[in-house]
Amino acid sequence: MAEMYDVIIIGAGPAGLAAGLYAGRSRLKTLIIEKGQDGGQIAITNEIENYPGAMLEGESGPSLIKRMTEQVAKFGADRVSDMVKSVDLKGDVKKIECSKGTYESKAVIIATGCFPKPIGCKNEGQYVGKGISFCATCDANFYQDLEVYVVGGGDSAVEEAMYLTGFARHVTIIHRRDELRAAKSIQEKAFKNEKLSFMWDTVVDEVGGDEIMQYMIVKNVKTGETKRIEADPDDGIFGLFGFIGYNANSELFKGVIDMDEGGNILTDENMHTNIPGVFAAGDIRKKSLKQVVTAAADGAIAAMQAEKFINA
Ligand code: NAP
Repeated sequence: MAEMYDVIIIGAGPAGLAAGLYAGRSRLKTLIIEKGQDGGQIAITNEIENYPGAMLEGESGPSLIKRMTEQVAKFGADRVSDMVKSVDLKGDVKKIECSKGTYESKAVIIATGCFPKPIGCKNEGQYVGKGISFCATCDANFYQDLEVYVVGGGDSAVEEAMYLTGFARHVTIIHRRDELRAAKSIQEKAFKNEKLSFMWDTVVDEVGGDEIMQYMIVKNVKTGETKRIEADPDDGIFGLFGFIGYNANSELFKGVIDMDEGGNILTDENMHTNIPGVFAAGDIRKKSLKQVVTAAADGAIAAMQAEKFINA
């Protein structure tokens, strides 16, 4: 028979880890299930400057997450590295079926976060990892002294583009409008960066090449004009990084948990979903501000509400 937990937390990003910390401190028998590395999006984010207290020299997503993971371990949550295959959440005993086994609990906190949206150009799938990337922290090194393009105009695109200027020969942000969405403070830094330039009102229509990506076709959305951008023959390749937002990782819960058309789970302000004993926390939720600080806050609230639910 599967071991019975008080609460199972699915996902070990900032929301899941904060939930694990609070559940552990409340002496709930807690299991955190994570299929990959801890941290979610933050594990692949280079610079963290707006998480309160994260002011250490060289603070990065991975360094912040490492401390969060260590802190959770102190309070005794069990950990398993496993992939959730299906869930049965409706009864009093919630069942989480994973690749390595089935886990059971009285309450569940869904903290599965988001994954990057594809750029949406022709042939994209063929060149992911061969010119196209969604993670500057992971892949910047491959583009040392090469030309790099970044698609997007939000905080992620602009911050990651600035990070990439530390490696690439030059970085160009391709944005579909003529104005950035990124926070003004981030924009100010970007406009001062001499290795960064902008291609406004432009989208990437197509990428191509042989084994690796060697050209792309971009289109001006105002004039309809297209332009073919080739890799410098001496380089043989250029980088194309996509940062155009995220999709919710909620496929497993479709038809069971209420969500919006984008797959963001609907909760009340106490992280309750439509199913008693099932809570959602962090970027997986529909909410106005998806940040580490709000994910951590969600996780804390979800854990305390799970405790209340179990002890009611
Ligand atoms: P975002 O804020 O949703 O911005 C997405 C950007 O991509 C927008 O500029 C958007 O253009 C563009 N875009 C969307 N779909 C596109 C498409 N199909 N083709 C071309 N461009 C497209 O996403 P994000 O920058 O990843 O940020 C996500 C959340 O995390 C935000 O809440 C953000 O504030 C937060 N975040 C915060 C920080 C920080 O505080 N340091 C860092 C990273 C992320 P339009 O502007 O035209 O819509």
